[in-house]
Amino acid sequence: MAECLFCKIRDGSIPAKIVYRDSECLGFEDIHPQAPTHVLFIPLTHISTVNELTGEDRERIGHLFMAAAKLAKERGHSEAGYRLVMNTNRDAGQTVFHIHLHLLGGRPFTWPPG
Ligand code: AMP
Ligand code: ZN
Repeated sequence: MAECLFCKIRDGSIPAKIVYRDSECLGFEDIHPQAPTHVLFIPLTHISTVNELTGEDRERIGHLFMAAAKLAKERGHSEAGYRLVMNTNRDAGQTVFHIHLHLLGGRPFTWPPG
C-alpha cells in the first residue's frame, strides 16, 4: 500500500531500526518506546487490521508470535515475562493501519490495561 507508513518501513523508504527480519515478517524498534524493549513486528504483506484477517493469514500471524518470542528470548525476557499487544481500531487506540504486534519487555506491566 503506497501511503502506508509500515509498508514504507518494509520497503526501506522510511528509516527504522530493524532488529528482526525473516521471509514473513519484520521487527523494528518503536519510535516512542514504552518499555526497555518495545519492538513492532509486522507481516510483510499489508493487512490493515485484525478484522481483515482471512484463513490465508493463519500462518502469517502465527509467525509474528514466533518471531516476537524469539527476540524476547534473545533479550532475556522469557522467564520474567513480556507483553504482546495488537490494537484494533479506535477503542484500542490503533494509529497505524498495518497490523503490528507490540513486544514490550524489560519492566513489569499492570493489568487491566488503561
Ligand atoms: P498502535 O497504536 O498500536 O497503532 O501503534 C503504533 C505504534 O507505531 C506506536 O507505538 C508508535 O510509537 C509507533 N510508530 C509510529 N511511527 C513510527 C515510526 N516511524 N517508526 C517506528 N514506530 C513508529
Ligand atoms: Zn502497510
